[in-house]
Amino acid sequence: MNAPILEAGNLHCVFEVSAGFMRPKRPLRAVNGVDLRLGKGESLGLVGESGCGKTTVAMMLLGLIRPSGGKVILGGEPMAGLDQREISRRIQPIFQDPYSSLNPRKTVAEIISLPLRAHKLGGPSEWRSRVTEIMGLVGLSQRYANNLPNQLSGGQRQRVAIARALVMRPEVVICDEPTSSLDVSVQSQILNLLLDLQRELDLTYLLISHNLAVVEHMATRVAVMYLGRIVEEALTADLFRNPRHPYTQALLASVLTPEPGLGVPDTHLGAAFPNPIEPPSGCTFHPRCPRVMPACNAQAPIPVAHESTTLVECHLFSEARTAAGPDRAPQQVGDEARPAATGSGGAS
Ligand code: SF4
Repeated sequence: MNAPILEAGNLHCVFEVSAGFMRPKRPLRAVNGVDLRLGKGESLGLVGESGCGKTTVAMMLLGLIRPSGGKVILGGEPMAGLDQREISRRIQPIFQDPYSSLNPRKTVAEIISLPLRAHKLGGPSEWRSRVTEIMGLVGLSQRYANNLPNQLSGGQRQRVAIARALVMRPEVVICDEPTSSLDVSVQSQILNLLLDLQRELDLTYLLISHNLAVVEHMATRVAVMYLGRIVEEALTADLFRNPRHPYTQALLASVLTPEPGLGVPDTHLGAAFPNPIEPPSGCTFHPRCPRVMPACNAQAPIPVAHESTTLVECHLFSEARTAAGPDRAPQQVGDEARPAATGSGGAS
């Protein structure tokens, strides 16, 4: 991996949620000890079912949600010490739905130039030239500059959203389901555009997607999330050829669907996704796991390195499982330590 440009260490996010009328609020651990590293120029895919905490991780990496614990490091500096304007200049999101993320009353040129105006970068003539340049890069004809979003197709609107995200030349782009609301015929055009832009502008991507085919096409590494934890992380080709964690295996088995925009389909795991307010004991996947063992509901597995490029959090791969206590313990992984998570898992 290249030098990390964005890192998350032992990241936690706990929400206090209502448990019902006249009842005290209860903690929901949306993110429960996540470690991530994005090397400069790479694409890291983050996959998992709805509610596993992927988007909460993204919001913390964007500086939009303050972590309950752990830290985010951007370009070697703790994000907690950075101004939000500085963070948004360096990290930009591309959201799923270009229909709702664009102001319907602004023209394409106004939408794309908004970050420049908000950050007071240059004046009107520079804004015009940067808008012209970025429209060319994303393949939008200049004749759309004065159009409103409702005069554009879905693919054109997503190109506007991409242009707006890139106009300030961020270092990292967080793509949250960037194609799932688009027609199948347009999805591959947008994905290939993102790949071209990555090469041209030296971008680093965090790609959040339900669509494992999209992740396989785009990502260099993949992290699989379940109930607020990363349960497996591996190089993309390796993960798709040889998934280790039983949850990853179930996800990959479920991807054979003719409808790419549907999200992760039925994983055929029997038990439903657990209530994140009352996560299962031990390994939080144990009620659904086809390979569950007696130790699984008593002890949470620790993340261990497997064949140098893979990290997997499952007793099947944990040589130390008989020695581990009920809480997760720190584990040396490659040249870094995976910090301990606290308590049992949860998800948003
Ligand atoms: Fe399944 Fe046990 Fe591994 Fe959890 S630790 S994934 S329950 S085998």
